[in-house]
Amino acid sequence: MHNALPTTRQYTMSSSNSHFQPVACDDPGVYRTLLESTKAIPWRIDWATMRFTYIGPQIEELLGWSPSSWLSVNDWAERIHEADRQKTVDFCVAQSQQGVDHEADYRALTRHGDYVWIRDVVHVVRRPDGSVDSLVGFMFDITARKQAEDKILQLQRELELLSYRDSLTGIANRRMFDTFYAAEWAKARDTGHPLSLLIVDIDYFKQYNDYYGHMQGDECLRRVAQALDAGVAQPGKLCARLGGEEFVLLLPGTDTQTALHMAERCRKLLRQEEIPHARSGVGRLVTVSMGIGTIVPGAEDDPAVFLDRIDRRLYQAKSAGRDRVCDAEA
Ligand code: GH3
Ligand code: MG
Ligand code: MG
Repeated sequence: MHNALPTTRQYTMSSSNSHFQPVACDDPGVYRTLLESTKAIPWRIDWATMRFTYIGPQIEELLGWSPSSWLSVNDWAERIHEADRQKTVDFCVAQSQQGVDHEADYRALTRHGDYVWIRDVVHVVRRPDGSVDSLVGFMFDITARKQAEDKILQLQRELELLSYRDSLTGIANRRMFDTFYAAEWAKARDTGHPLSLLIVDIDYFKQYNDYYGHMQGDECLRRVAQALDAGVAQPGKLCARLGGEEFVLLLPGTDTQTALHMAERCRKLLRQEEIPHARSGVGRLVTVSMGIGTIVPGAEDDPAVFLDRIDRRLYQAKSAGRDRVCDAEA
């Protein structure tokens, strides 16, 4: 291993005015001490031979590989995580060939088989005629920073998932419904498959709250949500809470007959829950009313208008006596 150190601009402290001033220092030992006492790990590669002519001894503490084991760029490349290797090597070679200073983040293999995130900051040293002489750089350990970034990404993903869930019932929320409704509407328009929609509303829920209290009202909402969710538990079908005591079932690729079937299954599951309702106007258990409709959307159809039509059917089910499904305008 050579002892040639990266050429850096040289500074020393002026004793007279205590400002930093560039001077020539002819004691290389000073620079060696400085370089080898920093956290960043300095290195130098000779461009013609692609061999390391220097690497700071700190590398051994970080990765476990002794400085003398870093001979050529192959040793460097082989100690890059397989998933990062090709793109890191390709990028660094291309940048160096163009004589461009650059940075690369990659995972470096330790002697114990773990990985450490490295940021390699590379400077291309040219001769007076412009040809590349060598590469010098510093390796920084950025593992802690990467772990923090990963944690943030994971939290963002969790937050995104949470923001599509209704916090009370755990089923999909209005936002999720809006997103899926728009997508399924466009798909149905393209494929010509029928799209069915059900709006579900708990009967006499105000009276339920008044009689049993808000806490039990919340518990009732959870149980109704679970019954509806179980009733449509099929891939591609969605049960969401629209808000309050209203829910929506989005059933892509479903004709009216099948949708009516699912509506009845949901009502049956709810009956089996046997949630007492002492103040209901239609019986002794909690019931729901539903508006239902099916559409093969054409270019002129509007999803908001269709939703409105289903909502009107829900109110027809209400005014016709509740605890029922309405699938057509009166
Ligand atoms: P209808 O049979 O015509 O649907 O009558 P209703 O009493 O069910 O409907 P109304 O719109 O009069 O009352 C809805 C009630 O739902 C009023 C409100 O206090 C209650 N509610 C809305 N959101 C929640 C909630 O998150 N938790 C609880 N416990 N109650 C809620
Ligand atoms: Mg309502
Ligand atoms: Mg209601």
